[in-house]
Amino acid sequence: MSTTAPRLLQVTRVHRVTPGMIRVTLTGEELAGFPGHGPDRRIKMFFPVEGQERPAVPRASTGGPVWPAGQARPAIRTYTVRRFAPGTGEHGELDVDFVVHAGHGPAAAWAVAARPGDWVGVSEPGGRWNPDPAAGHHLVIGDESALPAIATVLETLAADHPGVPVRAVVEVAGPGEEQDLPGGARVDWVHRGSEPAGAPLVAAVRAAELPEGPGQAWLAGESAAVRDLRGHLLTDRGFDRRAVYATGYWRAR
Ligand SMILES: Cc1cc2nc3c(=O)[nH]c(=O)nc-3n(C[C@H](O)[C@H](O)[C@H](O)COP(=O)(O)OP(=O)(O)OC[C@H]3O[C@@H](n4cnc5c(N)ncnc54)[C@H](O)[C@@H]3O)c2cc1C
Repeated sequence: MSTTAPRLLQVTRVHRVTPGMIRVTLTGEELAGFPGHGPDRRIKMFFPVEGQERPAVPRASTGGPVWPAGQARPAIRTYTVRRFAPGTGEHGELDVDFVVHAGHGPAAAWAVAARPGDWVGVSEPGGRWNPDPAAGHHLVIGDESALPAIATVLETLAADHPGVPVRAVVEVAGPGEEQDLPGGARVDWVHRGSEPAGAPLVAAVRAAELPEGPGQAWLAGESAAVRDLRGHLLTDRGFDRRAVYATGYWRAR
């Protein structure tokens, strides 16, 4: 956990981006000074457990964050800053996009039930991906859990490296889960249908014709698929180890 105590924020809006993706907009006095700009900013989110209006979160003290005594600990999951708008509204706004998956996890369940006024905790953002100015092309790969991060990666590539070819390969459940993505990337949408999560993505990337020359790759999604594709890029496609930024986002069971 970061040395800074999580910020307690409140839901201001809830919006279905697609049938399977919920955008929750958060705000609050504690959003002041949030360092939320940049691509692939990862946050820990602290969700209230049953019977709590607000999640118990560690509060700042001179000796570091301290958990409140006698309160049930929150469910904690990792999400992505999809949009941070410090100048919007009284305190700024933070958007987080949640996949509505069938696994009945506490985070997805919280998003489905979220209403204006609900409380949630948000950590300081982390993440170390930066585009390499020397890369001749970029490959951006993931599933719907990675779509919020992919959007911020594509935004950054379009703004900071215009003209460098960008190819994105994204697995979603079906055509209704495709989203408009920023930047001028070529986006190949892969539909999962009834196949196991990650299998269509792995097949599509393995079959893709990619530009020649040294490229940079960002990939995230189901952990086994990410591991497979990272190995494929390094072994079969000649990517430099330092040019592949891969993160398992969730594990199929
Ligand atoms: C750096 C990082 C950034 C992330 N950013 C986002 C984001 O912006 N938006 C987002 O939706 N997710 C994101 N994730 C993934 C998210 O943390 C996981 O999906 C998490 O498991 C969801 O928590 P939960 O409480 O809903 O389910 P859990 O209690 O963790 O899991 C319950 C069950 O659901 C299954 N499951 C979990 N996630 C998925 C899924 N996506 N699809 C299908 N089955 C699933 C698990 O296999 C498990 O069986 C990110 C993960 C990381 C590491």
